[in-house]
Amino acid sequence: MTTTPESTPAPQTTAAKLVYLFGGGSADGSAEMRNLLGGKGAGLAEMTNIGIPVPPGFTITTEVCTAFYENDRRYPAGLDEQVREGVRFVEGLLERRFGDPARPLLFSVRSGARVSMPGMMDTVLNLGLNDAVAEGLARETGDERFAYDSYRRFVAMYGDVVLGLKGEDKGVDPFEAILEAKKRALGVEQDTQLPPKALKELVVEFKYEIWKRRQVRFPEDPWEQLWGAIGAVFGSWENPRAVTYRRLYDIPNNWGTAVSVQAMVFGNLGEDCATGVGFTRDPATGEKRFYGEYLVNAQGEDVVAGIRTPQPVTKEAKGDGQVSLEEAMPQAFAELTQVYQTLERHYRDIQDIEFTIQKGRLWLLQTRAGKRTARAMIKVAVDLADEGLIAREEAIMRVEPDKLDELLHPTFDSKATREVIATGLPASPGAAVGKVVFSADEAVARAEAGEKVVLVRVETSPEDVHGMSVAAGILTARGGMTSHAAVVARGMGRCCVAGCGALQIDYASGCFTVSTEGREVVVGEGDTISIDGSTGEVMLGAVPVVDSTLDENFATLMGWVDQARRLRVRTNADTPQDAALARQFGAEGIGLCRTEHMFFEPDRILAVREMILAGDEAGRRRALAKILPMQRSDFEGIFRAMEGLPVTIRLLDPPLHEFLPKTPAEIEEVARELGVAAEVVAQHNEALAEFNPMLGHRGCRLGVTYPEIYETQVRAIIEAACNLSREGVRVLPEIMIPIVGMEEEFVRMRQLTEDTAAQVMAETGVRVDYTVGTMIELPRACMVADEIARHAEFFSFGTNDLTQTTYGISRDDSAHFMPDYIAKGVIEGDPFVKLDQEGVGELMRIAVGKGRSVRPGLKIGICGEHGGEPTSVEFCHREGLDYVSASPYRVPIARVAAAQAALRDRVAEGVVAQ
Ligand code: PEP
Ligand code: MG
Repeated sequence: MTTTPESTPAPQTTAAKLVYLFGGGSADGSAEMRNLLGGKGAGLAEMTNIGIPVPPGFTITTEVCTAFYENDRRYPAGLDEQVREGVRFVEGLLERRFGDPARPLLFSVRSGARVSMPGMMDTVLNLGLNDAVAEGLARETGDERFAYDSYRRFVAMYGDVVLGLKGEDKGVDPFEAILEAKKRALGVEQDTQLPPKALKELVVEFKYEIWKRRQVRFPEDPWEQLWGAIGAVFGSWENPRAVTYRRLYDIPNNWGTAVSVQAMVFGNLGEDCATGVGFTRDPATGEKRFYGEYLVNAQGEDVVAGIRTPQPVTKEAKGDGQVSLEEAMPQAFAELTQVYQTLERHYRDIQDIEFTIQKGRLWLLQTRAGKRTARAMIKVAVDLADEGLIAREEAIMRVEPDKLDELLHPTFDSKATREVIATGLPASPGAAVGKVVFSADEAVARAEAGEKVVLVRVETSPEDVHGMSVAAGILTARGGMTSHAAVVARGMGRCCVAGCGALQIDYASGCFTVSTEGREVVVGEGDTISIDGSTGEVMLGAVPVVDSTLDENFATLMGWVDQARRLRVRTNADTPQDAALARQFGAEGIGLCRTEHMFFEPDRILAVREMILAGDEAGRRRALAKILPMQRSDFEGIFRAMEGLPVTIRLLDPPLHEFLPKTPAEIEEVARELGVAAEVVAQHNEALAEFNPMLGHRGCRLGVTYPEIYETQVRAIIEAACNLSREGVRVLPEIMIPIVGMEEEFVRMRQLTEDTAAQVMAETGVRVDYTVGTMIELPRACMVADEIARHAEFFSFGTNDLTQTTYGISRDDSAHFMPDYIAKGVIEGDPFVKLDQEGVGELMRIAVGKGRSVRPGLKIGICGEHGGEPTSVEFCHREGLDYVSASPYRVPIARVAAAQAALRDRVAEGVVAQ
């Protein structure tokens, strides 16, 4: 049944020390050992070392977990004895005995990986209880109710976790059903109203349920219980929830989890007992005030489970009818305050803590870095630096660049009318609009079909994480700010409204009901709602959203960031609006303006099609003459928005057939508009069709075949620059040629550009400076970069095409098999997202080296999607690029990533402290 060292002698020893003790004022481990002891184990050891009251215990290392999986789920030799030693150590400290009814010692058994995976793995509490020990516990505490309540909880947890009963009936807990039946039979509503006799009966009924389902007896031997629980926790590393979580957060499978076995303390031994969780600062806003929730006379997971609504810890946070811990237990609160302040100073970061008060005495069960919103992340980093707890460099390193996304994203338009039907807790900020779904699977199905959804649940559990990750927002009826939904949503940067008690959710009929202003509103699956994670409001329909405003802390931190980085950060933008937005986000120019997007504008697509369908150069020039003024005004708008900053404009790139109509109806319509027969359009379509358009007639190849297209574009650029220059606007155009693979291609396009520009300047009598450079997006261009650099003033890596052509994987078709490649471990991640530094990166290195060998000051940037991806930005920094160019919303991310890359260099050089 369960794996014990006795039943399966282990083949080998992987580490001499497998178990680390903590308690009695000192510990074997410390905070630095989180890889070995897991976050929880390292935190418990460190707290013990700095004199924080922690119940004693021991941690079995992550190496044991790794060995367990490598050796067919068998433990390394020596573990048995070391665990026995651990138990003896706790027994000695507490003067209690494991399994002894006279002085019972109970344990909690918990998982803890090196990074926190909230709720993903299993926990067993009250371990060590059996009939005799329960009786002893009742005698010792004089509280029969407490003893049998603990016992029935333990049997259920053991059945659920160790024997795997929980997942059996579609996630329904069989013990929950028995408990509910008992309450109904006795006519009571709360678990706490059940008398000891009923709890004793529940223990028997639960054990019978286990027998019925598994044909095994509930183990009365505490040692068998302990090994069962340890095995289950190690086993839970591979449960589907944990596997999904690791995939979502890029956590390697071979890290493994540690197991912490710790003496139980009880928050459910009466009215002078409590259990709670808290953050040393507000995890939503970063405000410097303790943010916590607690429950009197409750055990362990009750606070986060959302079964009873917790009360606030501080007086300041309490609402009507609530009683804060500060008022209820002032002594314990004072101690808690001192402890959390010590912890924050010690760790120099927000801590997320779990505590229990047993008979007025405070115990800390856990401390870890608190998960926080992007807003809080920035505020806390700036505040800690201002408070002198960390250096500014460290404040920069504390920012998770990708998380900034959350800050930059839109909120609801404050002027829009909102039909608020209910208000819950503002658990994770942001604005979400979407169709209501009631299950995680439905959320995934609809999201895959391209719909935006809001996942509505009574409360969420780790089984829902896959649905939460694809939902625009999450709304729950139960649970507090530290409930599963709130914690996970904040970690994911997802908008969340939690604990919205007004919602009556009926999963069976697929709707929820709220009573508002005397009427009942029924919202069904598929109806659209809006939720505001910053106010907790739930609204009917789609409320319009507006761009976010960035606060002072953001500006302060970005100021530090800009001082630290070497790489310049530009943006990819094709419109004056995008350019202006990116400038607000700190863009220092445009690294890529794709001109084809302008060709698709409704007012000019007809002229573009006319040009394509023209039979000769004269016809093409006639059509291009219509496009010229429109392009010129596009460029004027962009130059104006980017006044004083460089603007790289790329000449036309895609194959021409992309601009032609596709369906018969569209072909008819275009033919009618152009006054030609539909067959003519269809024939052109056919003539231009290519088997492999991405490797076909595109980029500079179009410029070679139809020079008049590029001439018109260069004319539009230079005319725009001359016009603005005349007005006194400073313009810095950089003309970029795409898909260059040969020196001769570039030489010709450069000549064309120079001739056209000279002509325009002669006509206008205005001189503007401009440069001509190339995209480097083909492997051949990298290999002959020295030849190209003789003529080019700048290079910009088009890593989208370079990745495509290096791997020989179509960027438009890779989605069919890339997920499979990743799932099967053939490739670590999608190379179109994170730059492949080994292959594509090597080609870039060659190009940089060759390019600068002939032109030492050659300006080099990147404008593929990788320019806004932090690890790729770091690579660009290391390889000596001058700038990265990213989409507007990723500009701040790239700025932070560039600063972090520069700081890492300085750490390596010993210029700044680690
Ligand atoms: C590239 O190939 O990386 C690039 C920026 O160009 P596009 O994505 O337009 O092909
Ligand atoms: Mg390209």
